[in-house]
Amino acid sequence: TPIIQLKNIVKRYKLGGETIHALNDVSLEILKGGFVAIMGPSGSGKSTLMNMIGCLDRPDAGTYLLQEEDIGKKNDNQLAAIRNQEIGFIFQNFNLLTRLTAMENVEMPLLYTKMSMAKRRERALEVLDQVGLKDRAGQLPTQLSGGQQQRVAIARALVAKPTILLADEPTGALDSKTSKEILQVMKELNELGHTVILITHDLSIAKQAGRMVILQDGKLFENGGERLGEFSIH
Ligand code: ADP
Ligand code: ADP
Repeated sequence: TPIIQLKNIVKRYKLGGETIHALNDVSLEILKGGFVAIMGPSGSGKSTLMNMIGCLDRPDAGTYLLQEEDIGKKNDNQLAAIRNQEIGFIFQNFNLLTRLTAMENVEMPLLYTKMSMAKRRERALEVLDQVGLKDRAGQLPTQLSGGQQQRVAIARALVAKPTILLADEPTGALDSKTSKEILQVMKELNELGHTVILITHDLSIAKQAGRMVILQDGKLFENGGERLGEFSIH
């Protein structure tokens, strides 16, 4: 069975007298180990979908099954627990804590577990090594390049062994050469068995995922190729 099953998901926002269908009857299944890019213009519902998949929000209608658990039926505490266990978030602007070293940033998600400090450090170093930054463990984010900061953020996303990596415009703040390197890291993680979901504006990035879906006005389309021409990227 798929790891993620969205069935006829609706998410509405009320704005003044108007109702906006940010997600309008969205259905999507993602298999374990998949690598899916979600594309779409600004305002198409990408953030809303990311919040849904990432268990930050619940649908107004439709069902979301994550590992066969019905997310719409969970309370806030249950959602937070599922989020911490299952999802590693990666953001455009890295979201690193500037006063903490690379190692301390990576360790953060483990502070809520029962792991000893020695074990936390060991695990943090292991994932920093995985993204090629073991020798930078003691440095602050400001001492690292953008690409290196994003690697630290990826290590932080990985540290608690989530099943899904959910990346929101992970290359949005990086130059094209560095973007390619970050994408390579994500491809390698996918090859190691992680399910990767990548939200991006960038067609050249999205094309490298195994599968591409496109959002437009809250509607989701599977990329058969022919719809792509309708979008001007950026
Ligand atoms: P994207 O990430 O693709 O830019 P969003 O998911 O942020 O799109 O937004 C989808 C639609 O929902 C847009 O029309 C946006 O204005 C609207 N929207 C998003 N969040 C809110 C909110 N909190 N309140 C009202 N409208 C919202
Ligand atoms: P990359 O292309 O690998 O992302 P850059 O070319 O931006 O890296 O940076 C080259 C080197 O300079 C890196 O090893 C990085 O650690 C260092 N560096 C980048 N920005 C800063 C900074 N603001 N302060 C200190 N060192 C930096």
